[in-house]
Amino acid sequence: MSLWLDGERRAYPPLDADVTADVAIVGGGIAGIATAYFLARAGARAVVLEARGVAEAASGRNAGFLLAGVAENFVAASRRYGAERAMRVWRLTRRSQTLVRSLVAEHGIACDLRWNGSDQIAGDDEEWREVSESARLLAARGAAVALDAGRRAATYADDGELHPVRWVRGLARAAVAAGARVHEGTAVTSLERDGLATERGRVRSGAVVLCTNAYTARLAATRVRAVRGQVLATAPTGPVFARPAYARRGYEYWRQTVDGRVVVGGWRDTAADEEVGEDERTTDRIQSRLDAFLGVHGIDAPVTHRWAGIMGFSHDALPYVGQTDERRFVCCGFTGHGMALGPASAELAAALVRGAAHDDADLFDPARA
Ligand SMILES: Cc1cc2nc3c(=O)[nH]c(=O)nc-3n(C[C@H](O)[C@H](O)[C@H](O)COP(=O)(O)OP(=O)(O)OC[C@H]3O[C@@H](n4cnc5c(N)ncnc54)[C@H](O)[C@@H]3O)c2cc1C
Repeated sequence: MSLWLDGERRAYPPLDADVTADVAIVGGGIAGIATAYFLARAGARAVVLEARGVAEAASGRNAGFLLAGVAENFVAASRRYGAERAMRVWRLTRRSQTLVRSLVAEHGIACDLRWNGSDQIAGDDEEWREVSESARLLAARGAAVALDAGRRAATYADDGELHPVRWVRGLARAAVAAGARVHEGTAVTSLERDGLATERGRVRSGAVVLCTNAYTARLAATRVRAVRGQVLATAPTGPVFARPAYARRGYEYWRQTVDGRVVVGGWRDTAADEEVGEDERTTDRIQSRLDAFLGVHGIDAPVTHRWAGIMGFSHDALPYVGQTDERRFVCCGFTGHGMALGPASAELAAALVRGAAHDDADLFDPARA
């Protein structure tokens, strides 16, 4: 079981009648809950339908890193998207960090939020050239970053970490306080012309937003693919790591929680053929790699939690946020970085649903090549 879901409880009843709303949101992860929050704050009647519980899928099974940028370092992202677009994406993730900081403070969300920065650690010489060049380019644009050639690491001072379930559930409470409705245990079975259907009730709405990430293909045509990630957590132990680390192009990551647990995940690339699909199963193949990491670092605290979560990968590693049909929108495809990309993407989705102007309206166009 995920460390973050251990001991946490659901709070909202299933939908059991037909209802009307301005906007129906499918999915109660960070994307759906944040979209509902921003819509409710703007005065829209928003209802969230979540098949399981809030943050029980990827949003409750991740590592809780709030990193600026995307999966790739900034040089690699610039090569792929062009320097200007990569910079806009980087700024949007910084916007997400600002949103987390202000929303946690405004709503008093107890989620162990800390801003200790993060280490980006290169796995080989080529990656180190990119990591150090990325740091120089971003420093010139205002990022607080320091290089350590000995460790082949760049330390970004402004990155954060948190308890993802307490964060998303705290934001759900804020969304409900602002007027949104949330229904857990409510699977959407089909989309309809004027809303959607669930097992026990229909929602008639002016718009539907799919915040279903890895599971989007169940309801609509999509390019999102389901990819599995695995993690373990130890019992509390003495201080080992000062801040979250993101290493070897993000295929390895680790941090230590406020109460001293070591959380380590990744190594998906060592079994790329197996780590796909919707099965939230851990495997010996990956978990033995995570155990080996503990051994290398001399961490002998017992492992208390092992879990898997399913990520939604897009075709180009950027999310899809925008309108796909007359009344239909998507906010999904976060490619393993939705805790960082989610809040600002949801803010964008909420603006697009309301027909409001937004500087990044074109950034994550779902129909892009
Ligand atoms: C192991 C792992 C580690 C990660 N680490 C990080 C990290 O450190 N930092 C970071 O930024 N990101 C990380 N991520 C990625 C991050 O967790 C995701 O990108 C993010 O949680 C996606 O949020 P979401 O709301 O789009 O999707 P989800 O949290 O998956 O939510 C989608 C929801 O939709 C619901 N749903 C689907 N279909 C239906 C339906 N038909 N009816 C009703 N409900 C439905 C699901 O039940 C689910 O709750 C990690 C992911 C994993 C798996």
